[in-house]
Amino acid sequence: MNNAYAGRFLFIDLTHRKIRTQPVPDTLKDLYIGGKGFGASLLAESVPPGTDPLSPDNVLMFMTGPLTGTAAPAMRGCVVFKSPLTHLFSDSYFGGSFSHEIKYAGYDGIIISGRADTPVYLWIDDDHVEIRDAARLWGRDILETGARIKSAIKDDTVKTAVIGPAGEHQVPFALIGCEFNRQAGRAGGGAVMGSKNLKAVAVRGTRLVRVHDPRGFVRACETALAELAASPDIQTLTQGGTAASVEFANETGLLPSLNYQYGTFEKAAALGDQGQGTHLWLGTNACMGCPIGCARIGAVRTGKYKGFVSDIVEYESAALMGSNLGITDVRAVAHLVKLCDRLGLDTMSCGSIIGFAMESAQKGLIPSPAGIDLDFGNVAAAQYLIDAMGHRKEGLGDLLSKGVKAAALEIGGRAEEIAQHTKGLETPAWGPRGVSGMGLAYMTADRGGCHQRGFTVPHELAGQWNGKKIDPLSPEGKAGMVIALQNYSAGTDTLVKCDFGTFGISAATYADLLSSATGRQSAPDIFDQVGERIWNLTRRFNLAHGMDPAQDTLPRRFVQEPLPDGPARGHKISEADMAVMRSAYYAGRGWASSGIPEPDTLKRLEIDP
Ligand code: SF4
Repeated sequence: MNNAYAGRFLFIDLTHRKIRTQPVPDTLKDLYIGGKGFGASLLAESVPPGTDPLSPDNVLMFMTGPLTGTAAPAMRGCVVFKSPLTHLFSDSYFGGSFSHEIKYAGYDGIIISGRADTPVYLWIDDDHVEIRDAARLWGRDILETGARIKSAIKDDTVKTAVIGPAGEHQVPFALIGCEFNRQAGRAGGGAVMGSKNLKAVAVRGTRLVRVHDPRGFVRACETALAELAASPDIQTLTQGGTAASVEFANETGLLPSLNYQYGTFEKAAALGDQGQGTHLWLGTNACMGCPIGCARIGAVRTGKYKGFVSDIVEYESAALMGSNLGITDVRAVAHLVKLCDRLGLDTMSCGSIIGFAMESAQKGLIPSPAGIDLDFGNVAAAQYLIDAMGHRKEGLGDLLSKGVKAAALEIGGRAEEIAQHTKGLETPAWGPRGVSGMGLAYMTADRGGCHQRGFTVPHELAGQWNGKKIDPLSPEGKAGMVIALQNYSAGTDTLVKCDFGTFGISAATYADLLSSATGRQSAPDIFDQVGERIWNLTRRFNLAHGMDPAQDTLPRRFVQEPLPDGPARGHKISEADMAVMRSAYYAGRGWASSGIPEPDTLKRLEIDP
């Protein structure tokens, strides 16, 4: 029966050089649909508590969803692993076309375990799977590696997922570069890949993805496209990409500025779509099959960094490498982001760590390296640190390349007070002091402080959730909203959708797409139900792997220091606010007051206690 699934996983054990396929069990489809759900379930089964994330016993999974490789708009791919940065469950998402190619090659996911004894890359050509020598690729950056692999295979349409020097050095926030301009950025998938001596995965697929009900599926696709076209949020994204959020965040006082000390930045316009439109952009770009096209291709045409090709500097990178470091020239920001992309470093973690280093130097907690002033606004200093972290150079490079949490602990003294992270994951570019619910979302996100697991900002600033008024500064009424957003996000991440698609496509349409593609009839609330199951499964995984619920908290700055500027000036999320939100959240989730899921909750969700 055609059902949009490829029907099998590809397992590769690098230690023993064993390659096998295995059918995807129906129970896994029933309970977890695909993507994040498959990954969370398989990770819990195959990685026991106590596993070192950088040991051969960790697994790295490239996962697709049932709609991957179909005409359903705005679909992406995900990587699932135990994070070397947080030591927790982690899923990291990437656009482009790599995930579609996995499906076309005939797999719902690629599951990699073990460690090769020398550097290798995988060449997957439909059913032909080969472990190839990568000695000549080791040490090369992501762009060069991808180009060399395509040249060796003599096919530049082959899709690649590659690590750079940062992944080879197992920097715990190293990313995986998918194609030349898409990244699975967060929480260190690149380091896990490096720990396996795996430089790259190259895939060519020639199969079709066949849906169960082609006519019904086309109708659902047409509805999805119409919903996207009618959404004002999507229109904004199409016109200005996520860069348009820089000025929005600045006006609302949520923009990280000088290591989150402030919520506004005088030169914000220079970093957003206005500045990027003037200095960088040449044309629009999109992931495969996406009508939104939030990306841009451009080039730096003037100034010191003239000559290199650039992508759009998306919001998180523009804010964390721009305002958070006090850098005003968007061409310099594009240059720094490109450097991270080539070395294979997550720009979000990097921006947060460099901001921490600059403030630490300002406060006398660390010395500036010889010949470098670690001052806010100093592009040369940021460039120096990126290079030092990416190559894990002795001294400051090695120290900071451990991540902001570990670096602050090692520096000691007051360093921990200015380290911005939750559970070890560096804070995203939405300062939560003006939107308390976002604070709760950071406190409780399954992979550490993450804005994508429950993005409350538009609801809180609009003052409305589910037809009821909410006060963005109050802790009241936030738990239910965060739980609902987290469940829906995890549920639709089984598809594996782009978050921006949810700005337009309704739950009913996602359910129609799923039903017509798979032949399994699904109601719109399936995503809430499966999402709740996943959220409890990842919570159980994290607790088993040593997470203390006391870590459901925020960085000290957001709790102790009132925001000095912007519309929420004077506000902080106090310990009392956190306690109110945390207690309502645990109760709403069916967890004990200690933050541990109750046995009845797990039983209801069909999770082994
Ligand atoms: S909205 Fe942007 S990131 Fe999402 S799939 Fe489309 S082009 Fe890719």
